[in-house]
Amino acid sequence: MKKIWEYISVRAEKALSIKHVMSLAMMMLGFFHVCLVVFFLVFHIYPMVALDLFSVALYLFCLVQIQRDKSLLLLFNLSYLQIVLHSVIAALLLGTDSGFSLYMIAVMPIGYYAAFNFNMRKQVINPMCYVIISGAAFCFLRVASRYMEPYYSYGNKTVDGAIYMVNYFVAVITIVTFVSTLLNQIKILENLRVMQNKQLEKLSKTDALTGLANRRSIEERYAQSEALREAYSLVIGDIDDFKAVNDTYGHNVGDTVLKAVAEAFKSTVRSEDIVCRWGGEEFLIFLPKCSRADAAHIAQRILEKVRVTDMRTAEQGNFHITMTLGVAAAQVGMEFTEVVKLADDRLYQGKQNGKNRVV
Ligand code: GH3
Ligand code: MG
Ligand code: MG
Repeated sequence: MKKIWEYISVRAEKALSIKHVMSLAMMMLGFFHVCLVVFFLVFHIYPMVALDLFSVALYLFCLVQIQRDKSLLLLFNLSYLQIVLHSVIAALLLGTDSGFSLYMIAVMPIGYYAAFNFNMRKQVINPMCYVIISGAAFCFLRVASRYMEPYYSYGNKTVDGAIYMVNYFVAVITIVTFVSTLLNQIKILENLRVMQNKQLEKLSKTDALTGLANRRSIEERYAQSEALREAYSLVIGDIDDFKAVNDTYGHNVGDTVLKAVAEAFKSTVRSEDIVCRWGGEEFLIFLPKCSRADAAHIAQRILEKVRVTDMRTAEQGNFHITMTLGVAAAQVGMEFTEVVKLADDRLYQGKQNGKNRVV
């Protein structure tokens, strides 16, 4: 009951499965027809008693088949047909003023939706089939009511009015429940989309191996810094002879080395700095509000940390690596790419002059 109310008030957090929705619908329909059995027994309208007993049996059958994972669309069509036939027979026997024909309008949007196999994407039956079937039944009843007198009467105008109102409210509740379920579904999908977008955005800014920021994050950070007109420095570091590491110890050990170097960078920089995996074995640090001398100092600390970090292998023991780092500070009017190039040129100089140093 709580779940149904959450749905009606468009507050549900999780989508109900279509199997769940169908089971609930079958139970509610079954219950409604049990009430009708009692009602028609009281008023001695035995053909309707028989029809409603048959309907209760049908919904019980459908409920069992749903649990057995039989075709939901087939079971839906069976129930749809039952509703149409029940409305037509009830309206012919009791007159259109009994309100049973109202269901022909209430079930139209549900049938239309079901044509998409409860999926919204994959249409399996022409949705107009449902509209035409219940529309034709409704029109037939309007015309028939002009030429046919109701077969049965409760013989009491108050009861006539009451049964119309009951049917009216059940039809309205059917439509409201259906629309609110759809709205809920849209809301749940929208929440899911927002959450997935956030995850994707995070992934798109993260390097999968090291967990560091990637180039895109740095570029975004730079856009902010430009807006703030902040001074900043850049450090670009490249592992020395990394190809040899891969060749000697294998690619997996190479990956472990990259992670260890990423750790060395992260544990050395300030919280406001951004460490990024710039390329294969190249790292870049964006240091906002940092002079070139301070950046060089940080680069030196990183280099020393990397030098002493034990790189372990299972079979060939420990080894150590070195890095070469280029440092550059942004001068007024310099483009980000120019600062990167300056740091990169200095890194190249360091490589030329024997590696394992900060330039
Ligand atoms: P230098 O000292 O001049 O920088 O020499 P180097 O061997 O480090 O440079 P080079 O550019 O020749 O080789 C870089 C190597 O980095 C080649 C590539 O296979 C390796 N590499 C790039 N990305 C990855 C990665 O994600 N994992 C591993 N294990 N290796 C990588
Ligand atoms: Mg290298
Ligand atoms: Mg390189």
